[in-house]
Formats: sequence, structure tokens, C-alpha cells
Amino acid sequence: MGVENRQTANQTVTFHCYNTVIVGSGAAGMNCAVHLYEFMRQKGFSQKESAERIVVVTRGLALGASRMSGSDKQTYYKMGTSPAVPDSAEEFAGTLTAAGCCHGDLALAEAIGSLREFYHLVQAGVPFPTDSMGSFVGYKTDHDPFERATSAGPKTSKFMSECLQRQLERYGVEIADNQEVAHLLTVGSGRSRRIAGVVTVDRKSLYRVRLRINVYLGANIVLAAGGPGELYETSVYPKGQVGIHGLAFKAGLVGENLTESQFGLASTKFRWNVSGTYMQAIPRIFSAPRACVALRRAGSTDADGSDERDFLARHFGGSMSKMATNIFLKGYQWPFDPQRIENQQSSLIDLLVFNETQKGRRVFLDFQHNPSAGSPKWDVGHSGWQPQAQLGDGQAPTAEQPSPSPGDEAHRMEPPTETFNIEALEPEAYQYLKRAGALQDTPIDRLFAMNPPAIEIYKQNGIDLYAEPLEIAVCAQHNNGGFAVNKWWESNIPGTFVIGEMAGTHGVKRPGGSALNAGQVGGLRAAEYIVNVYGCELPDYSAWEDEITGQLDRLFTKFDKYRAVGSPMPKVMIQRIQKRMTLSAGLMRESKTARRALKEAVELYRLIQKNGLSAPGKRALVWAIQAEHLALTSIAYLKAIVELLRQGSGSRGSHLVIARDGVEIHPDITAGTTGKVLKFKPENPSLRDSVLRVEYDDSLPDMFRCESVELRSAPSDAKAFEPAWRDFREGKIYRENER
Ligand SMILES: Cc1cc2nc3c(=O)[nH]c(=O)nc-3n(C[C@H](O)[C@H](O)[C@H](O)COP(=O)(O)OP(=O)(O)OC[C@H]3O[C@@H](n4cnc5c(N)ncnc54)[C@H](O)[C@@H]3O)c2cc1C
Repeated sequence: MGVENRQTANQTVTFHCYNTVIVGSGAAGMNCAVHLYEFMRQKGFSQKESAERIVVVTRGLALGASRMSGSDKQTYYKMGTSPAVPDSAEEFAGTLTAAGCCHGDLALAEAIGSLREFYHLVQAGVPFPTDSMGSFVGYKTDHDPFERATSAGPKTSKFMSECLQRQLERYGVEIADNQEVAHLLTVGSGRSRRIAGVVTVDRKSLYRVRLRINVYLGANIVLAAGGPGELYETSVYPKGQVGIHGLAFKAGLVGENLTESQFGLASTKFRWNVSGTYMQAIPRIFSAPRACVALRRAGSTDADGSDERDFLARHFGGSMSKMATNIFLKGYQWPFDPQRIENQQSSLIDLLVFNETQKGRRVFLDFQHNPSAGSPKWDVGHSGWQPQAQLGDGQAPTAEQPSPSPGDEAHRMEPPTETFNIEALEPEAYQYLKRAGALQDTPIDRLFAMNPPAIEIYKQNGIDLYAEPLEIAVCAQHNNGGFAVNKWWESNIPGTFVIGEMAGTHGVKRPGGSALNAGQVGGLRAAEYIVNVYGCELPDYSAWEDEITGQLDRLFTKFDKYRAVGSPMPKVMIQRIQKRMTLSAGLMRESKTARRALKEAVELYRLIQKNGLSAPGKRALVWAIQAEHLALTSIAYLKAIVELLRQGSGSRGSHLVIARDGVEIHPDITAGTTGKVLKFKPENPSLRDSVLRVEYDDSLPDMFRCESVELRSAPSDAKAFEPAWRDFREGKIYRENER
């Protein structure tokens, strides 16, 4: 609204003032802005008055998971809309909380708000498919007992954020693009602590003479900056999805369930999930050496014609039907799930792929050929994964590790002798493909029959599935955890709300598609609360001018430290963080490894604080900002992992805990150097009733404090209409709050 230039520490700073500042222009942030505007209009503010009170601040309109990520048919999970199958909010919430560590009030709010938000998107123009009677057609997704999932195609979340953006443009709400958040301004302390605004570096100004710094002050702050995608080396988050977790921790926000990242199979050259029909088409899965450059055509081999390995085959007990059915099931049992590895279930595939890549080999989906048992002489066991105790300092056991040579290990399992026969698939897979009209001879024809846009999306990104194999890996995809919020998505700091992937509203497992639903409902709830409780006025931070100036001075002093000659380069630091996270906080975890990683992460952050970073050019400033807050984020994640392992959590959600006294994963999966069979610790279900919180505290050696809190339950006091109406009229519904 108001704009004012001020001079601070030799730097011109432009101050902007709004009622609400939303950080992030993904589906969640955009939706919150739309609702805020609409609620303000309902309160009687004119179009202009409403629009002027809101700003969306983002590092890139075209960036983030909503704009850039997807899968074969990206899923939106909502309450059932089938005309024949009844659904209820309580049942929906029951599905969200089923695997534990999920607050009941949040789950119920996501359930109740689900259809309202779904239809809000339909009105905004998202093309969710209907049948000729107008009912929205659903299908089954992972952890989904009903057919609650729907999709607008591979780019559902892109459509969502684009449609909502168009709505914001019609409303005249400002979107401040190219703004990299560098700091969250705080005022006050203890219970009266507030986040007053965000400080940004204008990314465009990095290429001009003068650096432009903006401060967006707000009476309310909504953080919708997505997940910390850049934390992991092996990741399907879009490049440049950094998030602002480290900054939010520093400002005093409390994290929850950070341990619950999701991992699954995704293509790496073009980052995209290979869930749904990509796996239901049952492609051949094979590996090749890292150095193999002869993989131009599927089925080709390198010079001696022998180095592709159908490495899955021997782990499925001689049954081609079982192996092929499990490849099919990966489609809707997409995230890695430790409860689906024993007895040759679908998540065994993720582990075997992970293992293969850890041996330094590359893994591919081949849509031209059906699964094959391959040549037994190449199908040796031998795990690439090894606990940190046996590794060099921070080194992944990858390319350097010698690959096993043919016949160097006795086989306990025989590879299948049968060839692929679609009619021999187990009934669940065969019936699905039959109903989908996808019984063609090759995977690519089956994929085309089920989902031609799934082929098209790769073509648009330079990959022809008809002609070349698709490289995949087990990638970090989503964090179920994030920041703690109450049932109005307000954080532990009053006036600051966290929505979308940044909010930690999911438990240990979530049905596929519920992330997008949660992001929409969270934005609605936050907007409603802001307008009805905190009001629509602009803030007055004049009493805090010295505090704000002091924080800006300190920030600019830090920017100077980022030009320290001889200090580490920010990009190198980021790579180090990513490597460590993939190795120690990925789908396989182990107590000793995690503790060591935490120690190294703290040392790295302290080093950056002490010596600064070497980012001499103006353009490298953003890298330095990111390196510092990602370093702090990684400490928070590792601290949570170490603490959960200490509590004896075992394998849950989307990660496997390796333990000497655990259960055999598979007789042929062994530790890299010892050759001993790897064992995992099953989940400790007694921890399902609590949530692990982490909070920044610089005075502690590990910089974060952990606390387990009990789950909140869903309110069950259904009121008669008249008293409920009175509570609504009198605004009492906003006071029934717990934090
Ligand atoms: C490959 C893939 C497939 C997925 N499939 C599904 C699915 O089928 N169903 C489902 O429900 N979920 C799915 N998800 C998860 C889902 O897409 C995301 O959780 C969701 O889109 C996040 O939305 P958001 O608005 O919270 O954040 P994002 O869409 O990630 O937006 C974050 C915003 O914050 C901005 N930002 C980030 N960092 C900064 C910074 N430092 N400074 C300033 N601005 C910043 C970004 O520019 C962006 O505008 C998938 C995710 C991936 C990666």
C-alpha cells in the first residue's frame, strides 16, 4: 500500500505496508490471497481497498512444486463425489489420521473444507473431469480406501496456481515477483513476539548496478513458501525450490513431524514422479553402469553387449507374475513404505533401485520392453548401502565402490524362468488393465492406451519414451511435516500463519493428493481467521523502528561477510548439505549415521556464521543467503531424526531404520562392505499418539530443542443449529482455539 524509501547502513531499503503479506505463489499462497480478498469484500471493503491490503511475495511466479511438479495424473484428494458411494468428513479424517502422528482437529478441518475448496477450484477454472451427469470422477490412490482422488491431468497443481493467479489479477491483488526472502523481521519477545514483515532481495537487481532491498510489513504474515526441496541431492522437487524453513526457525516458529519426508521413484533428467500409469503400464526396469553412454535406445547394450542388468528379477522368488504385479502396484502404492517390503511387496522395488544406484549404477524404465528375468549371470546380490560407520567422512558409497563381478556371490533366489505374460498377472493388476483397455503387448502401448498425456509430458521435456529409456532414482518428494499450526493454520507466533507444504499438518502417512487439499483448506482457514479476528487494518510498527533498523543493519553486515575471500563457496556448501541429507536423512536411516551427520551439520553452520561465505559477486548473494538458511534447516531435520531414532521409532512413513537386531529385509540384500544381510527395525506403534516438535535455541549444542507433544483430537461437541448459529454470529467460533 504505502511505499517509502529509507537509508539503512548505506543501503536504500524500500518499505511496503499491507494488512497481509503472503510468501509464496504456489497453489496454497495464491488460494489464500483469493480468499482474503473475497472475505475482505464481504466485510464491505471496496475492490481497490481489498486488493491494496494484500501482497503475494515470491522468488518466482513460475517456480515451486505447484508450478513445476507432477506425475502421470497429479492427484487432488477430496471427499468422495461418487453418486453411488457415501463418504463423510469423519471417515475422511479417519483416513488422514490412520497411520498416526496427525492432529485430529487438523484432519477434520481438512476433511470438512475439502469439497468447499475443490468446488472453489472448479469455479476458478481447473478442468477436473466430470461425466455426462456432472459428477466428478474419482479413482484410488496410495493409502486411499475409497476413490476420493481426482486429477486434472499431469499438471493439476500448475492449473490450480495458474487459475488462482488469473483470479488474483482480475481482483487487482499485487504479486511481487523475483523476491528472494532473506530475513523475517521479528518484534517483541515471549508471547508478544510477532513477525512484522519479510526482507527480500530483488533478484532482478542482482544484474543491475544497484541492489534493491524490499521490506514487506504486514499485520499478518502467511508463509506458503513450500517444502525445503533443495535439502536433498536426490530429489524430484523442482530445481530452485528452496523454501524458507531456516529463516522461519530463526524467527521462532516450531517444527513438527520433520522426520516424515516421503521418498519414491521419479525420473531425474526431467524431474517428474513415475507413479500411476507409468508403473501400471509395467515397464522393464534395468540398470547400467554409470559410465555407460551407449543407452541411446531402449534395449541397447554397451560394447560387449552385456552390461544391462534386470536386477529386480531374482528378488521375486522365481515368479515373473509376482515381479510384474508389484511393478504395476507401484503405480498407486507410490511412496516408499517400509510396511510393504517383506514378502516381496511393491516397496521392495524402491529398495532395490536405491541399492542399485548406491552401487554406482544408473536405473532405467524401459517402455519398449516388458519386464525380463535377464541373464542370471549378471544378477548378483550385494547391497550398495552401508551404514556411516563403514563409510568415509560424508562420502556416499557410490561410483567408487567396486561393482560385483559376475558370479561373485551365491544366489539364494532364482530369477524367474518364465517370460512376461500379461494374462499371468495377479488378479488386481490384470483386472485393472483389462478394465482400462490396456492389455497391449508393450508397456508403451499400454501407457498410451491409459494416458497419452503421460507420454506427451516427457516429449515436451525432450525425452521420447518410444525411443529411449528413462532414468529414475528414489527421490525426496514431499515433507509431511513442517511447521506446527492450530486448527486455523496459525503458527505458535500469533498473526503468523503457515499453509501448504510448509505447514506440518500430515502425519506419518498421507493419502496421495492430500497435500494439495491441505494447502487449499489451510489458505481458506487462515484467510477467514485473519479477516474475522485480526481485521483488515494496516499495521503500525513505528514503536519498533529501532528494532527493525537494527535487524536490517545486522543483515547487511552479514551480506558483507558473504564476500569473505577464502571462505567456502555457497554452492559447494549447498552440495555438501544435500549429499549429507540424502545419505543420512533419506529412505534408509541409522542412528550412528544420523548422529554423525547432525554433528557435521552443526559444524558447517557454525563455520558459516564465523567465517562467512565466499560469494564475491552480487549475483552470488542469493546462493549465500540460501546456503545459510538451508544449513540451519538441515540441522533441524537431522536433530528431529536423531531424537526420533533415540526414542526407538523404527521404520515408518517412508523410511527404513537399519538395525543389527532387526528383521531381514530380504536374504539377498546385504551391507556393502560386510556382506551381512541388512536388517530393519519395524515401527514402534506406541509413538503414533505423539508428534515430535523442534524449536531453534542457539544456546544448545545442537541448536534445536525437541519435545514430544500429545496429539490434539477432533472436537466432538456437535451443537444444535440455534446455539451454533449464535456462536457463529457472535464470532465465538474463532475463540474456541487451542494453540
Ligand atoms: C514430483 C511431485 C509430484 C507431486 N504430486 C502430488 C500429487 O499428485 N498430489 C498432491 O497432493 N501433492 C503432490 N505433490 C506435492 C505438492 O505438489 C506440493 O506439496 C504443493 O504443490 C506445494 O504447494 P505450496 O503452494 O505449498 O508450495 P509450492 O508450490 O512449492 O510454492 C512455493 C512458493 O514459494 C516460493 N519460494 C520458495 N522459496 C522461496 C524463497 N526462499 N523466497 C521467496 N519465495 C520462495 C516459490 O517461488 C513458490 O512460489 C507433488 C510434489 C512433487 C515434487
